[in-house]
Amino acid sequence: MGEADDWVARDEAVVWHGFTQMSTYGENAPVVVDHAEGHEVVDVDGRRYLDAISSLWVTTLGHRVPELDDALREQIERGAHTTMLGNGNRVVVELAEALALVVPVERPHFLFASDGASAVEQALKIAFQYWANVGVAPRTTCLGFGGAYHGDTIGALSVGAGGFGTDLFDPLRFPVLRAPGFDDPEWSAVAASMIEQHASKLAAVIVEPLVQGAAGMHCADPAGLARLGAACRAHDVLLICDEVATGFGRTGTLFASEQCDLRPDLLCMGKGITGGYLPMSATAASHRVFEAFLGPDLSEKTLYHGHSYGGNALAAAVALRHLELIGERDVLANVRVRSEELRALLHDRVAPLAGVREVRLCGLMGGVELAPPAEGLRWGRKVCAGAVDRGVLLRPLGDVVVLMPPLTITSSELHTIVAALAESIRNVMAG
Ligand SMILES: *Cc1c(COP(=O)(O)O)cnc(C)c1O
Repeated sequence: MGEADDWVARDEAVVWHGFTQMSTYGENAPVVVDHAEGHEVVDVDGRRYLDAISSLWVTTLGHRVPELDDALREQIERGAHTTMLGNGNRVVVELAEALALVVPVERPHFLFASDGASAVEQALKIAFQYWANVGVAPRTTCLGFGGAYHGDTIGALSVGAGGFGTDLFDPLRFPVLRAPGFDDPEWSAVAASMIEQHASKLAAVIVEPLVQGAAGMHCADPAGLARLGAACRAHDVLLICDEVATGFGRTGTLFASEQCDLRPDLLCMGKGITGGYLPMSATAASHRVFEAFLGPDLSEKTLYHGHSYGGNALAAAVALRHLELIGERDVLANVRVRSEELRALLHDRVAPLAGVREVRLCGLMGGVELAPPAEGLRWGRKVCAGAVDRGVLLRPLGDVVVLMPPLTITSSELHTIVAALAESIRNVMAG
């Protein structure tokens, strides 16, 4: 017996894990990490696992990136955190300046927070208040999509489509208009006509550009998204792009919105913003939106919203260096090349397997949808457990196996991931 059992027991005794049934947590062979380096995490017994989910979609360049470690060390010498409420901090200004050059939002201002869900809450509140500030008859509704996921706080849950056992909270969710998800070929046509019909009461439309991640990696045609953006502009409805998952290179461009002419008024970022190092998120607002909040000091036009750790200096220093590294290392080119390679590998070795319904991929966001013969067989869980046994860390969304490797993944690592996945699927199929 290694140390892992001991650590799991200590863990269970005091930690409550998110999205996890704690009564069975220990039985599901959780990996308790001792340390992480490069593309691997190492558990308390020294077993190594290739991190094929980027520590739940946040790691971009891997763990222990020397330049990011240095940026963190240098900033700690200057102080870890000071408040951004009514005051500034040099490194946060520098980060916002750097982001302003690359975020596809017109003359943006950035409101920082710590989690993706908070960035979404901020965007929703800004959109709501925008219409009050410009003196238009109240616009109080949002339009969201089937399958959408925007985070777990109440506002983010409201614009999300539910599922994952969160239906219980329905009485707390505010009502929204709901267009079909990306898995419906008519999604953008229906959304455009709903926008036209309901524009006078719509504050905003919120969409995950290109890929609905938590829905199971459903990819959209960029033309459909362009149509959505055009409908919002034609009917003067604010467009919120939730790039928490897709931002910072995941889909082969720095932001997915760039590929589909979306021109968002508000853009939410999180997850990869610090390369997976520290919690940070931000809501970018276009100049038009920002301007509507200007008025006399202490007036009702002010945005009364802010989080204690919003614009944390350590996170900002890492995020700033990370943004530079994406350019210096030509990371986006790697994403594109590896994406094509992964597509071919999945096509050859996984799609033909019995038990696989569909393979979906956009950039380095992939989903392998399994086709279990009956409900409740937990194939997603079993296939991922088999991959973990083979040294590849995977975690499913229901019966969709998620493939979300770091953006700097190599060709041979992709082969390792796909081989472990294919073997595990065969094994589960064989009973
Ligand atoms: C993960 C995610 C969120 C929520 O981010 P948290 O940091 O987990 O709060 C929001 N939107 C999308 C698209 C996400 O994938």
